[in-house]
Amino acid sequence: MTLLNLLNHELSWHKRSDWDEAIELLKTFSSEHTDEPSHVKDLARIVRFRIDGIDAFIQQNTAVVCPNCEKVCCINKHGYYDYEDLIYIHALGLKPPIYKEGISDTDPCQFLSEFGCTIERAVRPFRCNWYFCDALLEHIEQGPAKPYRMFIKQLDEIVDLRKEMLDEFFRILKENSLYTLSSLE
Ligand code: SF4
Ligand code: SF4
Repeated sequence: MTLLNLLNHELSWHKRSDWDEAIELLKTFSSEHTDEPSHVKDLARIVRFRIDGIDAFIQQNTAVVCPNCEKVCCINKHGYYDYEDLIYIHALGLKPPIYKEGISDTDPCQFLSEFGCTIERAVRPFRCNWYFCDALLEHIEQGPAKPYRMFIKQLDEIVDLRKEMLDEFFRILKENSLYTLSSLE
């Protein structure tokens, strides 16, 4: 299986052999081709920096809304990286966590503690940073207009930067022989 074939929405930690193969091939990609993907790595660092920049604003709002929540959104299936998250964290030089066995997708997320998520916001699965339930959204919208507008603008910019990073990654993968990068059967 090639790296290009593995990196799509089908990739899941639950399909362990594909998952492990994709991670090995991503590591090879990062270690053997340090120059070409430098723009990808720069963009990943900028995305991380920008997510750090909105952390306080989100935290201010979740600190008010989430303690009263009766149906916490953090179920275990949301805690797994998808293929785009894997590209991002490898570009940052990080590794995915070792996920625990035997937890149902609908159980509370394995990274949820009594103090909230134990993963630094900038390296959480992207869906976690992008999800705002109605109650949270309403609270944010009812706050001061200027910080709200700035927050929405920052979110849009983060999404664009992340897309640019992913597009660049796939451009390099397709334009090079890396696109056939595959493990030995
Ligand atoms: S974001 Fe919404 S659904 Fe999730 S824990 Fe907070 S209040 Fe509950
Ligand atoms: S925010 Fe953290 S605790 Fe919640 S689903 Fe995502 S990874 Fe799990």
